Amino acid sequence: MKLVRFWGTRGSLPVALTAAALRGRLIAAVRGARGLALASERAVEDYVDGLDFALAGTFGGHTSCVQIETGDADYVLCDLGSGVRPFGEAAIARHGPRTPQTYHIFMSHVHWDHIMGLPFFAPAYIPGNRVRIYGGHVDLEAALRRQMDPPSFPVDFDTMRADIEFVHLPPGIRHEVAGMTVTTLRQRHAGDSYGYRFERGGRTVVYTTDSEHKLTEAAETRSFVDFFRDADLVVFDAMYSLAEATTVKADWGHSSNVVGVELCQLAGVAHLCLFHHEPAADDAQIAAVLADTRRLEEITRSGRPMRISSAYDGMEIAL
Ligand SMILES: [Zn+2]
Ligand SMILES: [Zn+2]
Repeated sequence: MKLVRFWGTRGSLPVALTAAALRGRLIAAVRGARGLALASERAVEDYVDGLDFALAGTFGGHTSCVQIETGDADYVLCDLGSGVRPFGEAAIARHGPRTPQTYHIFMSHVHWDHIMGLPFFAPAYIPGNRVRIYGGHVDLEAALRRQMDPPSFPVDFDTMRADIEFVHLPPGIRHEVAGMTVTTLRQRHAGDSYGYRFERGGRTVVYTTDSEHKLTEAAETRSFVDFFRDADLVVFDAMYSLAEATTVKADWGHSSNVVGVELCQLAGVAHLCLFHHEPAADDAQIAAVLADTRRLEEITRSGRPMRISSAYDGMEIAL
């Protein structure tokens, strides 16, 4: 595996930067440029690239969709959130509509934010393309069909003319898909969710979202530590703060940055990526959580340093 690319990183509901927020940022950026020598294009670009990400960038608006580049021509995705729309457009722009492609898509579960992108996934409408949708839920196909039924959507599921196949992946068994060894683990979430461990060519990526960790049952904690063991990258549901996750939002089915650090440290993970951001959180809040998480990792570290990042739409992580 070569690369992980994020197309959708927001939890529960897509969000967009508002005009008022953008205006405030532009004013702050222009104010910060006062007195600087910005005559050349290069100087302007360097100035912009040096701004804080929470000012000059944005943690994405689209819901969950993550691509894994395996090194083969086939595409591998996790989840069909709204981020699959720009992914599909990029794939078509790259190949043109006439070239048949294969898409392997691993579904964490069928909550709306993880399936809402499928009706807008253009490659699924192109005859000749192959779409393989994998998951541990027996009602996976029914859920994806139902969201396109009238009166909720104007285009029927069967309008998608690609060769679409659903593949049930029972948990706890190793599967071989797209040249990868894939292991799944059932997670604590309303209606269950599944985490995926992908291994290929000495590289390991774990995709674990919409998963609550109580850390009170040793056997359950151990099963996740084993699942994360020595991974190069863990994409982790860090929707809430620890205080929220253990009080008002206990049993809401999500986890926190603090729990992510603890589990990944126990498992010897190289890189923890915070994912599935709370839709009410703005960029400054997400950036603050990232800074806190890096500090937490530093002060609790006992072995080698662990990299920590916070996912945004368009982010790429080389493996
Ligand atoms: Zn979700
Ligand atoms: Zn969910």
